[in-house]
Amino acid sequence: MGEQERVRAKRVDEWLAASGAVLAATERVARSVAAAFHGARRAEGHAAWATPAIFTWESWVRERWLERNHSGMMLLNPLQEQALWSRVIRNSRIGRDLHHYDKLAAAAQQAYRLLCSHSPNALTQAARLGWTGDSVAFSEWLAEFEARCGHEGLKSAGRVGLQLADWLRAETGQLQSNDLKADRTPLLLIGFDRITETQEKILHAWGPWKQDDAEMIPNARQFFAARDAAEELKACVAWLRGKIAVNPEARLMVVTTELQKRRGELERALMVAPAAGEPALDFEFSLGVRLDQVGVARGAILILRWLSERLAEPEVDWLLSSGFCSNSPEEELEVAEAMRTVRRRGQERPEWALEDFVSPVRREFAPPAGWVARMTAARDALEREPKRQSPLDWVLLAANLLEIAGWPGFRPLGSVAFQARQRWESVLENCGSLGFDGSQMEWGEFVSTVSTAASGTIFAAESRDAAIQITEPLESAGQLADGLWFLGVDEENWPGRGQPHPLLPIGLQRDAGMPHSSPLADWKLMQEATIRLLASADEVVFSYALQSDEAEARPSRLAAQYLGAATDVPAELMATGAAALKIPLTEVFEDASRIRFPHQVIGGGSGTLTSQSLCPFQAFATARLGAEDWQAAEAGLNAKQRGQLLHSVLHRVWGGQQVGGLSSFNDLNGVADLKEFVRRIVHVVMAESFDSSRRGSLPDRFPARLLELEAQRLTELVSEWLEYERTRLPFRVAGTEVRSNVRIAGLELTLRLDRIDTLEDGSLLVIDYKSGNVGPGAWAGDRPEDVQLPLYASIAMDAKDEPLEGLVFASVRPGEMAFSGRVRNATTSLHAGLSGQSSLVKKPLTEQQLEEWRTIIERLGNAFFSGKAEVDPKDGARTCDKCHLHAVCRVYENQPLDFVAAKVGNEADGDGGGDA
Ligand code: SF4
Repeated sequence: MGEQERVRAKRVDEWLAASGAVLAATERVARSVAAAFHGARRAEGHAAWATPAIFTWESWVRERWLERNHSGMMLLNPLQEQALWSRVIRNSRIGRDLHHYDKLAAAAQQAYRLLCSHSPNALTQAARLGWTGDSVAFSEWLAEFEARCGHEGLKSAGRVGLQLADWLRAETGQLQSNDLKADRTPLLLIGFDRITETQEKILHAWGPWKQDDAEMIPNARQFFAARDAAEELKACVAWLRGKIAVNPEARLMVVTTELQKRRGELERALMVAPAAGEPALDFEFSLGVRLDQVGVARGAILILRWLSERLAEPEVDWLLSSGFCSNSPEEELEVAEAMRTVRRRGQERPEWALEDFVSPVRREFAPPAGWVARMTAARDALEREPKRQSPLDWVLLAANLLEIAGWPGFRPLGSVAFQARQRWESVLENCGSLGFDGSQMEWGEFVSTVSTAASGTIFAAESRDAAIQITEPLESAGQLADGLWFLGVDEENWPGRGQPHPLLPIGLQRDAGMPHSSPLADWKLMQEATIRLLASADEVVFSYALQSDEAEARPSRLAAQYLGAATDVPAELMATGAAALKIPLTEVFEDASRIRFPHQVIGGGSGTLTSQSLCPFQAFATARLGAEDWQAAEAGLNAKQRGQLLHSVLHRVWGGQQVGGLSSFNDLNGVADLKEFVRRIVHVVMAESFDSSRRGSLPDRFPARLLELEAQRLTELVSEWLEYERTRLPFRVAGTEVRSNVRIAGLELTLRLDRIDTLEDGSLLVIDYKSGNVGPGAWAGDRPEDVQLPLYASIAMDAKDEPLEGLVFASVRPGEMAFSGRVRNATTSLHAGLSGQSSLVKKPLTEQQLEEWRTIIERLGNAFFSGKAEVDPKDGARTCDKCHLHAVCRVYENQPLDFVAAKVGNEADGDGGGDA
C-alpha cells in the first residue's frame, strides 16, 4: 500500500470508528476503500469484525428514500423510465411525426436527470416559460412525464434525491436534536470530483458531512514527451515492469482518455511476453464492455431474433461457430460444416431466415438433425403463443425458448461467462418489468427492447483486484495507487471536449455548470481532476506523444501548468521498453525443422505458388491447412460472381459452332450483328447460371430486374471486347478453359487457362481475361504477384510442339479494352499498327525472361514442397491488406504499430477466372 493510500485508510478508519459512514462516488471506489479497511483488520490479527458502513452514493440515497417511502410509490428502473419517456414522446403533439423514439427517449431521460441533479428549479413549469427551440418540445414532454408519474404513483430515479432532501428537511424540523444526532450518521464523501446542487441539498438536509480532503503528501511527479504513441506506450510498459520488479506488491494505475478506443492497443502492449524471470503483468480494465458484445449474451440475443426474423449471414456464422446453440463438440462442427458447404456451393446470401437454413429447398447442405429438431421446436413454441403478451410473459417464454434451443451450449461457463450470463438474466428480468403499466407488446418489439437494453448495459466482470488498474481520468476519482501513469496528455485530449445537451437551453446548462456546457466548465472540471490525479499516487507520470495522427501534438496546457515543460522519455525506460517490445507476443525460437508436403498433387493450382511468392505462410495456411476465405454475400452479384459470368460468356463466344459460338478471327468478322449475337449468348449463359435445378448454379435469390441489368451490362461489355478483337491480326481459337497439368519440384498441379489462340504462323498466344486492373508488372521480380501464365509459359510449354508467341492479359473493362503482357513480336502477331512506344513492343517476350521465370517458379515450388512457411508478406501491410489470414498468422499483433497504421485499402480484382 502506498503512502497516499495508507494515510487515507487511517482517516477512513478513524471516521468509521467514530460511528461515521463513508459514501463513495462509484462502486469501484467503495470496493477499494472497503478492501483497505478489511486488510487493516486482518493485519491487526482480527478474525472477524463488523461490516463497515461503506456505501456508494446511489445505493445510500435509494435506501434512505425507500425507508421513508411510506406511501408505496414505485421507483422506476432505468428501462421502465425510458419506456415511459418513449410513450410520452410518441403521444405528444410533436412526437407523432418523429422517428427513433428510443433514442429520443434516452436523450430526454438524460436531460431530465441533468435537471434533477444540477438545476432542480427548472423543473417548475414557470421556470421553463422562456425556453426556445427543441427545449420547448422537451419541456412539454417533461410536464407530461411528471403528470403521469404523479397520477400513477411512479418515481423516477432522478427525482428520488430531491424528494429525499425534502423529507430530510421536514424530519429535521420534527426531530429533537438528540434523536437527530442518533439518526444522522456523519458522512465522509470519497471520490467526488464535483458535488451537484441536489447532492448538496441532500447533504445539508442530512446534517453532518464532509468531503475527504486528501492530504498533500509530497510525491514524485514527471512529465514526459515521447516521439510517438508507440514510444509512449513502450515507456509506460517499461515503467510498470520496473515498479513491479522493485515491489511485487505494488498497486499501479494507468490512466488514459478514450479507454474503449485504446483498449486493444493497451492490452497488446501489456501482454507482451516478459523477459526471462520477469512475471507477466497482472492488469484489468475498470471499464466494461457492452453486454451485447459478450459471447453468452450475444448468442442468446441472436437465437431469440432468429426465431422470428432474418439474421445477417455473419451473425449466423458467428452463432453457429460459437457453440452457444450446440449440445456437443461434434454437433458444433457439423453445423459449422453445413455453413461451409453453403459457401462452397455458392449458396451464400446476405440474410438467412431460420426456415431457409433448417429446411433448405435443395438439400445441398444438411445441418445435424438434433440441432434442426431443437431450433424447429423453439420456433414452433414461439408460433403457438398469442401475438401480443405482457413483457413478463415474453420473458418467461424467452428463457424457455433459449433452453429448448440448447443455449448456452455444451461448454461449461467460466467465471466471467457465468457472470455475464447472470447479467443477461437480470437484463431480461428488467425487461419483464416493462409491463408495469399493464402494456403488452409483440414478440418483435420485445426482442428489440431486450437487444437495446443489452447494448445499453455495460458488463464488467467482478474485479480481481489486479496489480495494475487501467482506467479513465474521471472514472479514477477516489482511487489511489503506489504509482500512476497518465497517457496521452496532449492539448487535443486533455482537457477533452464534449457537447452540451441538445434538449436543454445552453444558457441554463452554463448557469448550472452542467458537464460540457462550455469550454470553461470542462476546463474547471478537468483542472480539479488533474489536481486530484497528481495527488493520487506516490509517484505520478504524465506523458504525451509529440507525433499524433500525422500532426505535431502539443502538451496539455493543464499538465504544463502543474508540471512545467515536458522532458524526453528517460533513456532507461526507452532501452527497457524497446527491448521489451522486441519480444513478440509469441515466444520466438528458430524452428529449423520443416514438414515436407506429403502429397504429389497441389490443390489450388498456380494460386498456391502465387501465395508462396506473396507470403509463404499464406500458401501453407491455404493449401495445407485449408484456411479458406469466404466472400461476403451481397444483395446483388458480388465481384467474383460477375467475373464468373464474364468468363462463362467469353467461353461460350469462343466455344465453336457446336455451342453457337465462334472459332476464329474470320468467324468474328463474319458476324453481321455483333450485339445481337452477344445478346443471344448472354441469354443462354444467364439461363444456365441461374437455373436452380443445375448443380453449381449461382443462387436463385436475385430479382429478375437485377439479372436483366446484368445481362445488359455483359452484352455491352463483351460486344465492346469483340469489336476490339476485330482489330487483331488473324487467329484461330485453339481452346478455352484449357486444363493443363504441370510438374514442378516433383509436384503436379493443374492449371486452367482462359484461352489459347493459334496464330497464323502456328505459334500460340495464351490469354488470361481480367476485369480488374492488372498488368504484366504482376509477373516481375523475384516474388511475382501472379505466376499462372509465367508458370505455363516457362514449364508447360516445354512439352508442346508449337512455339509460344506470347502471354497476355486481356483487359475487359469498359472503355479500356486492351492486351498487355509479353509477346515475342507483337506487331506481326497481335496488332500490325502498334507503335514503338507500346510496352508490348518495347518489352517483348525473350528466352532469358522465360529462363528467369523458370528459376523463380522452381524456387517457389521447392520452398512450398519443403515446408517453408514463414510469415513474410512481400510488401508488408499492402500484401496483408488483401489477405484473409490475419487472425491465423497474427501478423498485426507481432508487428510494430506503424505496420498496422500503414494498412492501405485495395480494390477487389473482380476476376472470376483462374486455376482449377
Ligand atoms: S496476413 Fe500477411 S503475414 Fe499473414 S498470411 Fe497473409 S500475407 Fe502473410
